[in-house]
Amino acid sequence: MNLSSLGFFRNIRKENQQFAVIGLGRFGRAVCGSLHRLGYEVLGTDIDEKRVAQVLTDQLAAHAVQLDSTEPAALKQAGIFEFDTVIIAIGNYLQESIITTLNVKEAGVHYVVAKASSEVHGTLLRRVGADHVVFPESEAGCALARSLTKPAILEHFELDPNNSIVEVMVPEEFHGRTVTEVELRSRYGLNLLAVGQSEKFEINPDPSRRLHKGQVMVVIGSNRDIDRLPI
Ligand code: ATP
Repeated sequence: MNLSSLGFFRNIRKENQQFAVIGLGRFGRAVCGSLHRLGYEVLGTDIDEKRVAQVLTDQLAAHAVQLDSTEPAALKQAGIFEFDTVIIAIGNYLQESIITTLNVKEAGVHYVVAKASSEVHGTLLRRVGADHVVFPESEAGCALARSLTKPAILEHFELDPNNSIVEVMVPEEFHGRTVTEVELRSRYGLNLLAVGQSEKFEINPDPSRRLHKGQVMVVIGSNRDIDRLPI
């Protein structure tokens, strides 16, 4: 289970099959490659011809074209406005990122995801219509800090600033006890969503199920309550 990917992929509607990615830096290339591997139709674009060619050589997208995304005519000609979802992966060029977001939203693209490199950048992107703003560097930094300080938490999916779903190793203290006996809800205020091992999960586990060291639990609750787990 990869909870961290939910934040992005939950916003992709099921029927979406085609994506355009504008900006083929490390982030844009990673988005292209992941969508392509998942079997979706991806068009990658960049102002830099070499980056466009590299994406095709590395087979990270089915199609790639060179264009300047600050030019509405170039976007129209490339058919970008026909895509249901456009990902704007231009983090370091503030002006280009904002103008591109404005261009695609004004042309009626249904769902636009934009990468921000700072809070101010994120605010501006939302103001010009971005439907979803991501902060990959800051999100990766938070995830690293969490994994260093709480190694038993394998995955962390933030629902809002106060509440999360986490995938956590079964604490030593819970070993050999049933779901009922550990009193997750009454003692910790947490709800158990699944228990599993080696990628195989039992959803809504039976209250009589015993927990064992080495297994993984998926729980939902407030960050404060999650912090109280004996891990
Ligand atoms: P990262 O690797 O973290 O994604 P990066 O430095 O590779 O960062 P950015 O600087 O954010 O990426 O730029 C992403 C891409 O956007 C670059 O490949 C750049 O050529 C491209 N780009 C910049 N301006 C435009 C534009 N006007 N039209 C199309 N692509 C652009």
